[in-house]
Amino acid sequence: MLYTDTHAHLSLCEQRIGRHKLFSLLDEYEELRRGSADSPKPFIVDVGTEAGDLAPRLGVFGRYAWLKFSAGIWPSQTALDNQDESLSRLKDDCASGRVAAIGECGLDYFHMDGSRGAQIRLFEKQIELAGEQSLPLIVHSRDAFEDTFSGLKTGGARLRAIIHCFSYSPAEAEQFLSLGFYLSFAGNLSYRNAPQLREALRLVPDSRLLLETDAPYLNPEPLRGKPASSADIARTYEIAAGLRNSTADKLAGIVQQNAGIIFGTKSF
Ligand SMILES: [Zn+2]
Repeated sequence: MLYTDTHAHLSLCEQRIGRHKLFSLLDEYEELRRGSADSPKPFIVDVGTEAGDLAPRLGVFGRYAWLKFSAGIWPSQTALDNQDESLSRLKDDCASGRVAAIGECGLDYFHMDGSRGAQIRLFEKQIELAGEQSLPLIVHSRDAFEDTFSGLKTGGARLRAIIHCFSYSPAEAEQFLSLGFYLSFAGNLSYRNAPQLREALRLVPDSRLLLETDAPYLNPEPLRGKPASSADIARTYEIAAGLRNSTADKLAGIVQQNAGIIFGTKSF
């Protein structure tokens, strides 16, 4: 069974599990994908975090035509201190024609690499860019629900957003859903201290559900703490299926359809 993974950091996976292992996983994925009759076919989204990181990622992984690439700026200290330069490099990346989404970007009041004001400015610029480029936005939000929500509202009704690695409670899930956004759940669904995530997952309608690894992070139990790759996502589908009285097979179809809609099924 082949599963769509809507959020992975393949360059970081390469560092953590080694190039050889990662490439054999991707080759195997490609092989299975070739034999799949599904439409759209499953795929993996390789997610950017730094201005200018697209070119090196394309250099290493661009040969997999079915991989989708996003480009975005995570609120790190370097990016926050050099916003104008970071944003102009991001705009250059968008001009490459290989960008399927803007992100990940957003607000992280847990790590706090820069002031709230600086983080909000960088986030709003990327919301604006997603609008200009008619691309979906991949949103990182940690301990920052209020500001994330009001920032996203400035994007207007046409903004298409994915709340990646959803980490809030059912109440926040309802609010994001009310704006028509997609919620993407990761392997931390399986962690003992996350009952609110499991509850939130149950209330997301099929049409707004995505699943992801955030690899190499958040390996689902029983491999919590070990570096993950997209191959670890099967357990997340199984856990999510159990919580939604569904099957991993059915969820695979649902997520594939949703991912095809939001990221576009066009291959480059
Ligand atoms: Zn990520």
